[in-house]
Amino acid sequence: MDGIKIYRGSDQIGGIVTEITKGDHRILIDLGADLPGTKNPALSDDELIKRVFAGEGDTIHTDAVLFTHYHGDHVGLRGKAPEGIPMYIGGTAKEIMETIAMRVDLLNKKLCKNAPSQMETINRMEPYWKLGSSRDFSGIKVTPLVCDHSAIDSYMFVIELNGKKILYTGDFRDHGIPGQDTFESMIKRYVGKIDVLVTEGTMISRLEETGNNPIKSEDDLGKRASEIFAEHKENVVLVSSTNLDSVMEFYHATPADKVFLCDAYQAEVMNIAIKSRSRFFDKYRYKKCIYVLCPDNNSFYMKNLEGVRNPVTKRRCFEMANEDIYLDKGFVMLARPNNNPNMAVGRFEERMKKMKDPFITYSMWTGYLEDGKAPDANIVRFLEGKNDKAHMEILHTSGHAYVETIAKLMELTNPDKIIPMHTEGRDAFTNLPQFGEYANRIWKKEDGQVYEF
Ligand SMILES: [Zn+2]
Repeated sequence: MDGIKIYRGSDQIGGIVTEITKGDHRILIDLGADLPGTKNPALSDDELIKRVFAGEGDTIHTDAVLFTHYHGDHVGLRGKAPEGIPMYIGGTAKEIMETIAMRVDLLNKKLCKNAPSQMETINRMEPYWKLGSSRDFSGIKVTPLVCDHSAIDSYMFVIELNGKKILYTGDFRDHGIPGQDTFESMIKRYVGKIDVLVTEGTMISRLEETGNNPIKSEDDLGKRASEIFAEHKENVVLVSSTNLDSVMEFYHATPADKVFLCDAYQAEVMNIAIKSRSRFFDKYRYKKCIYVLCPDNNSFYMKNLEGVRNPVTKRRCFEMANEDIYLDKGFVMLARPNNNPNMAVGRFEERMKKMKDPFITYSMWTGYLEDGKAPDANIVRFLEGKNDKAHMEILHTSGHAYVETIAKLMELTNPDKIIPMHTEGRDAFTNLPQFGEYANRIWKKEDGQVYEF
């Protein structure tokens, strides 16, 4: 049966797998693991994989798995795909995954010699073909489009089969660094009128977060960060290391007289992002030296960063941090809570003990906080005793499209049918006044049902 099937994600955020079938061939989009804290997942990860690959090579042939981006709820089950099925992801996204996998594999091998290697599954992935061009998979034509999301190098897909045109959004938004000026023109130029829109709807069930947050865009975040960093001498920022738009905003918001600090892993991730995006966006350019915190002041950790030079001044972009200097001058330090089970206290927590009065900028989902929807024990511990207005400010924008952005996308593409996914607010899609006449075009079905062409 030719059509679209969502295996999981019709009625939950994350843990996504979607299939587009033509005859006995298909492509899959994402193989996502359930997000930690998902209450009553529609299907367990194991059961999901069993169903997805039940007839593989027999009644169905998978021509490709296309990953939208590197978040675990989209790539987490990549290792479960049978050998031989080609897998694709963005080239920059792949580099970032490799940087993470190298460290995770090292740590896992220390804990257990036979731990499965993350790098092996990443090695199987190929980067997407030439931007803006399409590729045919047994009659299913796919054109990947780079889009704005909290993961850098994320993709939407225009898919054509049986004379129909589908836009599959993946996770997206229009209020980050790449999206704020280009979203509308990209949709007009590369998408236009479509038959079916498959759209994420994460924010539909998080409306209160948008309404209460004065920070609507990454640009707003950068402006407020400049004020906070100017006011406080010791700034510690809790931000996801791969939320590159926010990381680059914090970097550019660091005042000239203060030191910008992060650890070697974060510096390598920034280096990958700067290399691939500085041509396109000012906020992805080098501004000032990035000082790297190395455990025990060991320069070994600088080995991948030493050779990187500013193309204009030819000076080194990364230098090893000196504690005496940054504590004296004032700083902005990107930090992460400790999640290494072998360490009782994290390196950043150790460093904070030496500070007089650190001010925390909390730039992650508020749901991870003590009173949030899915409290994260590591974050809660990190913030203990500092979780008040005098010591912390929440400064975060969503990685996902606001209701207004989804409405704008509907208007720009005028689809005959709209399939919501990656949402806990499927029912709300038909009631939202922002969606106007489009609310009547929503196809609201359960996981596993096929939308036929
Ligand atoms: Zn995502």
